[in-house]
Amino acid sequence: MHIGVVGAGYVGLITSLAFAHMENHVICMDNDIKKINQLNKGVPTIFEEDLESLLHECLDNKNIVFTNDLQETVNQSDILFIAVGTPPNDDGGVDMTQINEVICQLSKFIHDYKIIINKSTVPVGTQKYIKELLVQKGVSEKNFDVVSNPEFLREGKAIFDFLHGDKIVIGSDSQKLKEILEKLYAPFHIEMIFTTPETAELIKYASNAFLSTKISFINEIANLCNKVGADIDTISYALGLDKRISPQFLKAGIGFGGSCFPKDTKALIKIAKTHGCDLKIVKSAVAVNEDQRILPIHILLDHYGDIKGKTISVLGLTFKANTDDIRESPSLYIIHELIKRGVTVQTYDPIASDEVKKIFPHIKYCSNVYDSLTNSICAIICTDWQEFYNLNLTLLKEKMQVPMIIDGRNIFKLEKVKENRIIYYSVGNGSLK
Ligand code: NAD
Repeated sequence: MHIGVVGAGYVGLITSLAFAHMENHVICMDNDIKKINQLNKGVPTIFEEDLESLLHECLDNKNIVFTNDLQETVNQSDILFIAVGTPPNDDGGVDMTQINEVICQLSKFIHDYKIIINKSTVPVGTQKYIKELLVQKGVSEKNFDVVSNPEFLREGKAIFDFLHGDKIVIGSDSQKLKEILEKLYAPFHIEMIFTTPETAELIKYASNAFLSTKISFINEIANLCNKVGADIDTISYALGLDKRISPQFLKAGIGFGGSCFPKDTKALIKIAKTHGCDLKIVKSAVAVNEDQRILPIHILLDHYGDIKGKTISVLGLTFKANTDDIRESPSLYIIHELIKRGVTVQTYDPIASDEVKKIFPHIKYCSNVYDSLTNSICAIICTDWQEFYNLNLTLLKEKMQVPMIIDGRNIFKLEKVKENRIIYYSVGNGSLK
């Protein structure tokens, strides 16, 4: 099939490559010309497992081209995916600027029938809104259908998830599209759910709100573990063995971040509010997370009293391992609080330092983890990067002024840090003061 994808970010790029991998002709369009040039040269623009080899495969097979020409993209495609950003507004709602721009630009170039498939996460009612906007901009109703097809991939496992996801959700008010979309997705062998656009749009928010709630729930239990001397990893394991619960998203830590859960939970609360519904559980999940992500600051203040003028190390900047995404990462909130308290912050991350430098230009970015520990009174582990599991604790002790770890991702076992006589705080797995 001839497929166009508008937006070459995390979702758009993976969507484009997955369909190209399935022998479709894909044209992937983005208005960021730097991104397009880089992708056409086979250089990945994001950090994702297996991305480079898939990009090379698709370019070599000539199944994909990258462009910044929207007209060309429309002309060459029967199906047009939209995968632009829907960031949060200041009031927690959804900023629809990118969607509006794309629809307005598209309206100039649609002169024969196109299927427009929206992959961006958008408020309920957006499929209808896009249809109305296209008509308002002069596109004939017979020249398009609009489908809601939310995306469920996880960053870090994005390619795997797209190719082997649990479900494909299609929200459409047109029966004739079912056959075409079944054919489009047939090579993936994933269960398809056909429903109304409103239901499809809400499935995405409900899914992210549920997973966020699961994380906040286990973090609340972890905080209780800290008080009563119970062990959260064993509790999570036991809960996870219950098939009704499942072990996924039950890892305690310093809260969720990323480009989806924080914004989508807030957006869902806002959407519900506009319809007179008060989502108490989702609100609590957000509130718990807001406290949880600065838990290390409370631990530091309890332990030291005053931290002004001290040096503290932040290990890991991305919101989770195996991605370069720093959006809403707990590390950013922690760094902000440390700076506010007059701390000298030294950081290390294997890939995200340059991005964080744009937000905090005056803190120290180290090129290896041990340099970031020099003269520090505490190392706060914010990301579960594999290399932190292998930290040499003898070397860590030599480098630090006070050997202390706040393990925001529960990487270490208590016995291991005990052997090394390190002051240690975990999230619900005990502490050594
Ligand atoms: P992103 O910011 O990484 O990518 C968006 C891309 O759209 C950027 O490359 C930007 O340059 C491009 N763009 C913006 N306006 C454009 C225009 N007018 N024409 C062409 N290109 C334009 O965003 P993302 O993380 O890929 O997310 C996209 C959507 O998918 C969002 O709604 C998000 O909530 C949703 N989503 C994201 C994930 C995820 O893990 N990142 C998962 C599921 C769903």
